[in-house]
Amino acid sequence: MRIETRAVHAARTVDPATGAVVPPVHLTTTFERDPDGGYPRGYMYARHGHPNRAALEAVLADLEGGAAAAAFASGSAATAALLATLAPGDHVIAPADVYTGTAAWLRDHLARWGVATSFVDLTDPAAVEAAITSATRLVWIETPSNPMLRVTDVARVAALAREAGVVTVCDNTIATPVLQSPLALGADFVHHATTKYLGGHSDVLGGAIVARSAEGLFERLRALQVAGGAVPSPFDCWLLLRSIRTLPYRVRAQSASAQRVAEFLAAHPRVGAVHYPGLPQHPDHAVAVRQMREGFGGVLSFEVHGGAEAARGVAARVRLFTRATSYGGVESLIEHRASIEGPGTRTPPGLLRLSIGLEHPDDLIEDLARALG
Ligand SMILES: *Cc1c(COP(=O)(O)O)cnc(C)c1O
Repeated sequence: MRIETRAVHAARTVDPATGAVVPPVHLTTTFERDPDGGYPRGYMYARHGHPNRAALEAVLADLEGGAAAAAFASGSAATAALLATLAPGDHVIAPADVYTGTAAWLRDHLARWGVATSFVDLTDPAAVEAAITSATRLVWIETPSNPMLRVTDVARVAALAREAGVVTVCDNTIATPVLQSPLALGADFVHHATTKYLGGHSDVLGGAIVARSAEGLFERLRALQVAGGAVPSPFDCWLLLRSIRTLPYRVRAQSASAQRVAEFLAAHPRVGAVHYPGLPQHPDHAVAVRQMREGFGGVLSFEVHGGAEAARGVAARVRLFTRATSYGGVESLIEHRASIEGPGTRTPPGLLRLSIGLEHPDDLIEDLARALG
């Protein structure tokens, strides 16, 4: 079945006890044992497993074409759990422009546990090949990346890694399973901040890892999910399941609007570079066309002539866009990215990142036109 149908039906079981069409939220931490001591319904204690979480994990695995999924309380908790499967002496390859939170995990915490990371340009497969050593265990891909929207050739990098016996994980948060299927391209794991498009309404934090195989490394991840305990609440899982039913339609509309906004900005005299893989002038446009479908996502960034002050001025004058971080919600957001990333950021000072919501694109373009002057 197509993704729209799977998004609606994958977790839609009519409640056998009441006939409720929408599955209930099971606000329980513990489950009854049988007189013989067994757990015939498969649940014992909510950190180990919970029906709302199991339903969410089944849908996430289905949408990504994976064998299994593990849901977490945030995207960062999912990152932390996957990285905790590594051992001292192991080596990781990550993009130089990886999400700041992922970079902080690798640099500030994992390094202290004896796991080293090489931050390389993943859009250059030769650089990836050169960085692989006998200690390399994991290549972390994030595509499109944030906030520069660079695109990594997942099939190429995954093939290089596999040849060296190295596992690949692809952060698919910006593209979503609607626009890109990393497992089909050869990655072993998909990472999501479900906080963004899967949640889709800026009201729930969450994360997930979807695995090609339910065996091997995924079993260690499952054990770490239970032992670490950074699991999503039953209501968070319920909210995510509700949102996922509309995911394909939201993402397509947001991508189509982002394409129009990018084209408007690219033609504006006060704007320098526009970073959006849907533009033919984007350095990775050809790779994006090959590995993405139906659109290039709802996130883009652009550089205002005049640097940080000019960019902050534009952000101050918009009326429809909300000045806030994050992305993937129904409302459009604008953000001066360098100031949220802090000292040492590589993000250009004049860069503004946009998250395109579900407003009419003409209204968004008029708002930006007014703010740019
Ligand atoms: C937001 C985000 C994360 C982290 O997710 P949280 O839910 O904020 O912990 C990881 N990767 C990417 C690409 C993100 O955008």
